[in-house]
Amino acid sequence: MSINIAIDGPAGAGKSTIAKALSRELGFIYVDTGAMYRAMGLFLQAKGASQDDEKTISELAEKCSIDIKYENGQQRVIEGGVDVTDKLRSEDAGKWASATSRFGAVRAKLTQLQKDLAARENVVMDGRDIGSAVLPGAQLKIYLTASEEARGKRRYDELVTKGETADLDQIIADIAARDHADMTREISPLVQAEDAILVDTSDMSIEQVVEHCLGLCREKGIA
Ligand code: C5P
Repeated sequence: MSINIAIDGPAGAGKSTIAKALSRELGFIYVDTGAMYRAMGLFLQAKGASQDDEKTISELAEKCSIDIKYENGQQRVIEGGVDVTDKLRSEDAGKWASATSRFGAVRAKLTQLQKDLAARENVVMDGRDIGSAVLPGAQLKIYLTASEEARGKRRYDELVTKGETADLDQIIADIAARDHADMTREISPLVQAEDAILVDTSDMSIEQVVEHCLGLCREKGIA
């Protein structure tokens, strides 16, 4: 049986950084489920769907073919046979992912792909509903969070380091809006699963969080 670690939490909590580091340490595959929702969102946008038109979105989601492959240990997302990984981190992709991830047809399609992967491989999988809906039987569930200010500041620093202009207040407002949408949607909202361990990273360095999470793995007999 494969070993599954679920990491959930709000936008900008550092899930992907921590999940990547853990997967490296453990020799597991890292599965970024947000990237799948982003690829689906961009596909729906390119098809001219309106974000509120559930009927059209459901029909299109059925037809959308998303696959995951690994190159040098890095996840690549393939949509319709084309590698779209490099387009997924844009604000547009995030907004389309957030707006369309509330629909049942979108979630059903991507959830099945995620479950299949985790059944075959040892994975560290991050997202919003991994511990609560995708992998309820995961051996370790972590709910990673941080204050809105801390998460906004990290995103701000990331953009500034890349040479992009950024407005901290706007970033914090966007994060709050994304959290609200993810936490209040009807299907698989972002929640801390009952058996998930809460890790608040507001005042922790990346190294401290990784060490702490590795400790949690050891307690579960995983590392
Ligand atoms: O984590 P990331 O910012 O890449 O996720 C983008 C959006 O995809 C989230 O705001 C959320 O709406 C959606 N998502 C989801 N369930 C997941 C992962 C992401 O609904 N498991």
